[in-house]
Amino acid sequence: MTNESPEKQADSVVAAARRAQAAWAERPIRERADALRPLKRRILSAAEHVGSLLAEECSKPFEEAVLAEVLPSADLVDYWTVSIEELLAAETLELDPISFPSKRAVVYREPRGVVALVSPWNYPVAIPLRTLVPALLAGNAVVLKPSEVTPRAGELVASFFEGLVPEGLVGLLQGGAEEGDALVRADVDAVVFTGSVATGRKVAAVCAERLVPCALELGGKDAAIVLADAPLERTARGLVWGAFTNAGQNCASIERVYVVRSIADALKKRVVELTKALRVGKDVGKLTTLRQAEIVRAQLDAAATSGAKLLTGSVPEEGAQQIDPAVVEVTDEATPLLADETFGPVLPIVVVDDEEEAVRRANASRFGLTASIWTKRTAHGHALARRLRAGVVTVNNHAFTAAIPAAPWSGVGESGYGVTSSPHALGELVRPRLVLEDKNALASELWWYPYTGTLRSLALAMARLRGGAGIFGRVAALLSLLTLLPRRLFEKGPEK
Ligand code: NAD
Repeated sequence: MTNESPEKQADSVVAAARRAQAAWAERPIRERADALRPLKRRILSAAEHVGSLLAEECSKPFEEAVLAEVLPSADLVDYWTVSIEELLAAETLELDPISFPSKRAVVYREPRGVVALVSPWNYPVAIPLRTLVPALLAGNAVVLKPSEVTPRAGELVASFFEGLVPEGLVGLLQGGAEEGDALVRADVDAVVFTGSVATGRKVAAVCAERLVPCALELGGKDAAIVLADAPLERTARGLVWGAFTNAGQNCASIERVYVVRSIADALKKRVVELTKALRVGKDVGKLTTLRQAEIVRAQLDAAATSGAKLLTGSVPEEGAQQIDPAVVEVTDEATPLLADETFGPVLPIVVVDDEEEAVRRANASRFGLTASIWTKRTAHGHALARRLRAGVVTVNNHAFTAAIPAAPWSGVGESGYGVTSSPHALGELVRPRLVLEDKNALASELWWYPYTGTLRSLALAMARLRGGAGIFGRVAALLSLLTLLPRRLFEKGPEK
């Protein structure tokens, strides 16, 4: 423990990261990729340890820890180390040799510098790694501020990089809101934040003040739309997993089901059967924090008061951290259970008349992270997916694409505007730098001083030639260009 203020701690970790970053960025991309390749083995061989650590620190079922945090993290090391060289390759622009003669322009993808990475507690290994790996490969340093709820997972993530990258390149700042705030105010060049909407707004405000780019991955209220021809057994199983995995503490949990009336009874029956078969404490762990359990309890309580029907589960006692998975039939759209993020083991079901009503209701949310459509007509589901206000839409599945490193993960509305995974995520981690060489032997460019009558006529002729006039006007413009151009090129000093 240290007695230094959060500001001082943040400043010194960021300064060490900055010192390490300069030399790291100069290493060829391939060398950086070689340095990070052993990370895959380290992550995989820590599988048992991660499983037990997350069971202790966040009450996560061991199987879920290995399947959702270890395996996808190892896969992303492969994906990024193999593809980074091509993704960051310099690009030579094609320039029109008439408008821009003797010029060559190259775009480089430069690291931003020091990236502040502020993470939540729900996937405390996978979430930081999905940014750390591409950020480092792109030549950045990263300072990780894990959640105060999962400091040991944060320490483990940072330790994975020890000896692979220069000291200080991966900085670790432990603590809560004060430390997170100090980090985004420190001398960092970009912020990648994953967490709640309320904190995301604060982080964005600080970044706006400092003019530092900031990526926000925030909450969700994912809808699942079940059409009349949905494959019943697969849909019921998919919904139950999508709602209760990680005890519902997943930004992409299914938190609203819109089911078409003709299949609703059969679906509810099967979902309830499957939910009752879940082993509480084993398949569905207790909530990671009492504070989260309290939010879930309050939402269930309010829904029950406003007429929602508990098909299975119950409103938990105050102070209970283990919550029985609940399936609730809801009609009141305004109840917090349907309007706000729940982040707990609750599956609300709303019966609708048809798919149009389902789409309308699914889209009527402040959030827009992921969504799913369940139907045997996959092409129809695909077309419907294009109408949903969400960053990821899956047909006959839900949310697992977070495990695919090539698949962009992003949201709309209050789900934030960050993108993780896939080449699209690089926009947050690199900036373009254009370098242009000019081998023009002429003493002057067309558009440099002096501004003369010839230049004025030339500019107007170019506008006509590029489409500002009809065919005859363009021919006339071409002819006048042919006389104006040489005159302009040899024009000397300003006109009197
Ligand atoms: P949170 O907002 O409470 O905390 C997130 C992080 O921010 C923590 O490290 C916390 O210490 C830090 N923090 C708190 N105040 C801060 C401040 N003023 N400045 C800077 N940092 C600050 O969120 P949480 O409860 O840890 O995580 C749950 C939330 O994360 C849910 O809303 C969930 O949907 C969201 N989430 C989103 C995604 C996604 O990909 N979109 C993934 C996982 C979780």
